[in-house]
This record gives sequence, structure tokens and C-alpha cells, in this order.
Amino acid sequence: TAKQVAAACLRLPPLPSTSDLVKLYNLRAVKQLSQNFLMDHKLSSKIVRKSGRIRDCHVCEVGPGPGGITRSILEQGAARVTVVEKDPRFLPVLELLRDASHGKLHIELGDVLTYNMEKLFPPDLALPWEDRPPRIHLIGNLPFNVATPLIIRWLRDISLRRNAWVNGRVRMTLTFQEEVVERMVAPTGHAQRCRLSIMCQNWCQATHKFTIPGRAFVPKPDVDVAIAHFVPRVEPQIPLEFWLVEKVVRCVFSFRQKYCKRGAGLLFPEDQRDEQIKKMFAVADVNPALRPFQLTMSEFNRLCHAYAAILEQQPSLAKFNVRERIVIVDGADYDDDNGGVIENI
Ligand code: SAM
Repeated sequence: TAKQVAAACLRLPPLPSTSDLVKLYNLRAVKQLSQNFLMDHKLSSKIVRKSGRIRDCHVCEVGPGPGGITRSILEQGAARVTVVEKDPRFLPVLELLRDASHGKLHIELGDVLTYNMEKLFPPDLALPWEDRPPRIHLIGNLPFNVATPLIIRWLRDISLRRNAWVNGRVRMTLTFQEEVVERMVAPTGHAQRCRLSIMCQNWCQATHKFTIPGRAFVPKPDVDVAIAHFVPRVEPQIPLEFWLVEKVVRCVFSFRQKYCKRGAGLLFPEDQRDEQIKKMFAVADVNPALRPFQLTMSEFNRLCHAYAAILEQQPSLAKFNVRERIVIVDGADYDDDNGGVIENI
């Protein structure tokens, strides 16, 4: 019943509001670090609610800042919450929250881009990959320039079932600039379909939960903020290694408005390009005159497999990189994806 649910949730002792604490501790957001605080308790509660049922779950919150979302996580009955924050200025406020949390909140000072969650959760929470997701959640409202590289790293970790994903199909709820979430969930043929769409949708079921207007944050960012939820797939749609999928998708989308064979050509040195591309598209049974955004996941799957078959015969091609940028795995360049504009074709 609602009464039982309320009883199971944590009632924090009276504390000043997050916005009062920010003033009290003089925690000005540092603009260069893209810090924007969510002070609206209703909205932070909504973010946590939309991440799924977190009662009795273990949560890792990344970038808690002054702890607005952290409070909501505790209030909604998480069994244990670990926060990973890079900026030590937030320690006193987070410690206040920890002292009120009946031992449920743990603070880690560190960088989420290198933080390893492999040993963070009790081993008895782990579930086999094919099973339902375990009672572990990752939640975070991070700066936009951290959130995109982070999701790319986490997708790679999901593909390797390492980091938090040694425990099974751990779910994630993260905030991004609204247009980035539109790209993440864009289906075949959509104007926003890009590299990020294929990468996110390959390893996860990605959904856009809701959007918060920029004005709800202090200071107000120039864009609206969208909440995205990711559930790792039991079986990726392209069941191949991360680097290979990343390389094919990156090359194909290099020329968004051209035939997809043009970008795919970047996978091969010029002297064998025409011949290899012909072979690759024939084996994959994909129309080389489609535009990259028109390709379905199944067509990408067939192209990746055809490329993998070529590599088996000519392994040295794996190292070939026309732009001399060996596989980019930190994801920082995903923010440059041209997701919106389709020039006249
Ligand atoms: N979650 C809080 C909220 O919603 O009000 C703060 C949001 S603010 C946009 C992002 C927070 O992430 C800041 O506290 C910032 O210091 C922290 N942060 C930025 N980069 C980080 C990183 N690499 N690792 C951990 N925390 C980081």
C-alpha cells in the first residue's frame, strides 16, 4: 500500500533546502566546469522516479554537486547510495547529507570517467546477463561535456561486461542536452539519426524520459535538459566488438549527405577501395546508394559482419585509419556529430 511504501522510504531529518545550503556554504557554480544545479525538489524526485523503482536498490550517483538528486534517491528508499564527485567544494554539504542518512550515503571524491565500480556493489546483487536487470542503478546530472564521453565509455564497458556491468544489465539514467537525447533515440530515417544513435541503440534500449526547461537550473544553461534512460540489451543488435562497430559506424557517417558507400570507403586504402566496397556491400546485401541515416540496425549489422569477414582475410586492414585517428573511444568527439542538418541531396 501507499502507506507501506512511504514507511519504507527514508525520511531525512529536517535539513535546510539544497538552495539554502548552496548559499550557506557559498557554493557558487563554476561556469567553466559547466556546473548547473537543479534546485527544484519536485524535478529531482521526478528524475529518480523515472529511473525505475529504486527502493532497496544500490545506487551510484555521479556528479552529485550540492546533493539535490542525492536527497531524492535517499528519500525514495535506496538501500545504499554512493556518490562520486570531482569537486571537493561539495564535501561539507554532502557530509551533512551523509550524517542524516542513517549510514546509507557514501562519498567518493573522484573522476567518474576513470572510476571503476567493479567492486562497489555487494556480489549477492549480481544477476546473470540474460536475467532481469539487477537492483543497481546509475544516476547522474553531469556537465554535458562529461556526460557524452561517459556514456560512450560505459557502452564499451557494457560490451565487455566490465565495470558496473560485472553485475549484469545495470540500468542508467543520465541527463544530456535535449538534442543529444533526440540523436540517441533517433530511429532509421530520422533527421537526427547519427553515430550516437547506432552506438546507443546497439548495446542498450535507450529512451527519452522527459525534458526539463533550462530555467529550472541555476545558473540557467542555454539549452533544455533531457533525461535519458538506458537498459543494456541481452544481445546487442550488432554482436561484434565495440571497436569494430565504432569504426564502421564512424566511417559510414563521415559523409552524412552522401551515399553510404562513400563513407564506408574510408575503411580501406585508396588502391583497393572500389573493389573492397563492392565486395562488402554485395556480401552485406545493402544498397550502397542509401544515405547513412537511412540504414537500419540490421543493415549496419550486415555491413559490420562483411567488414569483419574482410578483416579475417586481411587482418592488417584493422589498423588502417584514413584520418590517422586510431579508434576514438573517449567519445569526446560525439558532441560534434552532425545530427540535425540534412543538406540537399
Ligand atoms: N547533480 C547536481 C545537480 O543536479 O544539481 C549537480 C549538477 S552539475 C551539472 C555537475 C556536477 O558534476 C558538479 O558537481 C561537478 O563538480 C560534477 N562533475 C563534473 N565532472 C565530473 C567528473 N568527471 N567526475 C565526477 N563529478 C564530476
